[in-house]
Amino acid sequence: MCGVIGAIGNGPVIGEIVDSLLFIQHRGQDAAGAATFDGTTFRLTRRMGLVREAFANEDLGRFKGNMGIGHVRYPTIGGGGVEDAQPFQVNSPFGIVMAHNGNLTNFKPLRDELQLQHRRHVGSNCDVEVILNVFAHELESLITDGDGDGDATDAIFDAVAGTFRRCRGSYSVVALVAGHGLLAFRDPYGIKPLIYGRKPDGDGWRYMFASESCALVSLGYEVVRDVLPGEAMLVRPGEEPESRQMAESNHHLCIFEFIYFARPDSMIDGISVYKARLRLGEALARRWGDRGTEVDTVIPVPDSSRPAAQQMAFALKRPFREGLLKNRYIGRTFIMPGNEARRRGIRFKLSPVRLEIDGKRVLLVDDSIVRGNTAEQIIQMVRDTGAAEVHMASSCPPLRHPCVYGVDMSTKNEFIASEKSEDGIRDAIGADSLLYQEHADMVQACTPPDEDTPRQFCMACMDGRYPTGDVDDEVLSRIEAERLAAGPTV
Ligand code: SF4
Repeated sequence: MCGVIGAIGNGPVIGEIVDSLLFIQHRGQDAAGAATFDGTTFRLTRRMGLVREAFANEDLGRFKGNMGIGHVRYPTIGGGGVEDAQPFQVNSPFGIVMAHNGNLTNFKPLRDELQLQHRRHVGSNCDVEVILNVFAHELESLITDGDGDGDATDAIFDAVAGTFRRCRGSYSVVALVAGHGLLAFRDPYGIKPLIYGRKPDGDGWRYMFASESCALVSLGYEVVRDVLPGEAMLVRPGEEPESRQMAESNHHLCIFEFIYFARPDSMIDGISVYKARLRLGEALARRWGDRGTEVDTVIPVPDSSRPAAQQMAFALKRPFREGLLKNRYIGRTFIMPGNEARRRGIRFKLSPVRLEIDGKRVLLVDDSIVRGNTAEQIIQMVRDTGAAEVHMASSCPPLRHPCVYGVDMSTKNEFIASEKSEDGIRDAIGADSLLYQEHADMVQACTPPDEDTPRQFCMACMDGRYPTGDVDDEVLSRIEAERLAAGPTV
């Protein structure tokens, strides 16, 4: 999972790009980058670390230009070096820089095709370099062949359509096309979010595209709407965005955004992340009530599960307590690449509050159980702090299948639920009892209550149904091999 920003206005944009990256820092803590265009020259930087670290030694004054893009990285296929950080640039046609959030399922075949058939060099393991070269190749052939009706705007949109035809997987993209403007597009399945907003800027408007609405709102933008699956938008300097639907939409937003990734103050595709998390807690409370197991207190495993735990406690008429305090300077354990780094992170990340735990029957609420190592260590810590019983509820159903769309769980052996029954998991993590969210309850919770029909989401890591239709055992094995070959990502 990564985060992207794109901005265009009547004045310099670099300050807002760096500021907005801070609001989507939770989507990637490994590297950050940005690029601007001043009408003649691209200026680009990519560095390892958090946004503040990555830009600490940059002279932002050199990033001239009224259009730019930014990126925070969370590595999946790439090996994690700065050579795989985004944005990427090509010089022909026009000059293009690009960044994305997502993951290609046909990364390697496409890279081979680009290199062997089209003599395009792809030097990194980062899939946006492939998307960029596919787009550039499509654009070049349209301009050369004259199939773009001599109109560069048509050619740019048609090149996005060609990119949709060739690139499989998930990708929400922002790009600067020299001499033409800021381009944004979202794959036909809309697996990753992308939204845009605007605010007054001199005589006109400043537009910003972002992975999450929280970045727009925090910088004073009025949210206009989400970019639609299969839609491309081009914003030329001083003009209104032009939108075209370049592929049929088959919307399957990643449901894990609501469980774990997104910030609770974000709206994604018209759904409040915060409200969805409350409803996830309500659904858990109903199932917990059916079991009749008594607890004294409900404690969230910070931070993503907090709204669900609050609502669960409210519905069960049990006290909600902050029994685990988070050291805010360690980072999110799931998002820290590499298992060893995760283990280190967990030990330092949480501290138990004895007053809220000692002698109590504790119900812990977590957003999900992936490998089980976090849950096991937390439960043991709560027992060591004197809990009489430790129960666990998970906002997410069991995770059993690799994610091939950009979340760092792309090998089967990463899931405790792929080899153990629910009772086996309960025993392995050392809980007195374990409650998982039901699939139907989760979908209902993530569907706005005023909609009659449950939304369609990607839930492939839970049910094994990959919405892009191109993921079979061979693709899974190839992606797993690529992931393992990339080695530890720190
Ligand atoms: S497989 Fe899971 S984590 Fe990956 S995009 Fe789908 S729902 Fe999200």
